[in-house]
Amino acid sequence: MEVPAAPPYPTVAIAGSDERFALHRIYCVGWNYAEHVREMGLTPEREPPIFFMKPLDAIVADGGSVTYPPRTENLHYEIELVVAIGRAGAAIARDDALAHVWGYGVGIDMTRRDLQSHAKARGQPWETSKAFDDAAPLGPLRAAADIGHPSAGRIWLSVNGDVRQDGDLRQLIWSVPEIIAHLSAYFRLAPGDLIYTGTPAGVGAVRPGDVLEGGVEGVGEIRVRVE
Ligand code: MN
Repeated sequence: MEVPAAPPYPTVAIAGSDERFALHRIYCVGWNYAEHVREMGLTPEREPPIFFMKPLDAIVADGGSVTYPPRTENLHYEIELVVAIGRAGAAIARDDALAHVWGYGVGIDMTRRDLQSHAKARGQPWETSKAFDDAAPLGPLRAAADIGHPSAGRIWLSVNGDVRQDGDLRQLIWSVPEIIAHLSAYFRLAPGDLIYTGTPAGVGAVRPGDVLEGGVEGVGEIRVRVE
């Protein structure tokens, strides 16, 4: 058996540019919109945000395909605003947080909901429900220098043209600066880190053949097909 060679370094497209954004880590925030917390059967509380991670090779580019994963019968979409970090930092103050943001994108936090429910009920880790192959579709990034730092605007997702999630960034329980402040208290953030910031209400199941389209006003859109 040969020694494995280094795989191609994972990168994400930048809208309107030939440059690629090189990835470092993928962080995600759980339960960050009150109506989604309620639909998960929980009571929204402003307790410190929940973080989990996905592997870099879980990224699926805009226009790509999500292979329906094994060991689930309830694969869910979660449309999310994604923050792209451009400057390193640890223990970042909320008021300094946006200076560490390179830009933003639109992502989908694919979730094996049945495995997550099983894990939550038993206090077990979430990796099998969140960190599987193709679990992190992400559209092209746009620079904050061009679009600013969105704190309001529509966030939506449709399945085969039917709108299923339709929220607004104003509904975030934890804002982007607050997320960065909390996350960087645990991990030293680095250029190339992504943060999926949580999903609004309306999550649901998909089947092979479904087309997922979503967007965030002022940031961009994503389209992937489940196969
Ligand atoms: Mn999520």
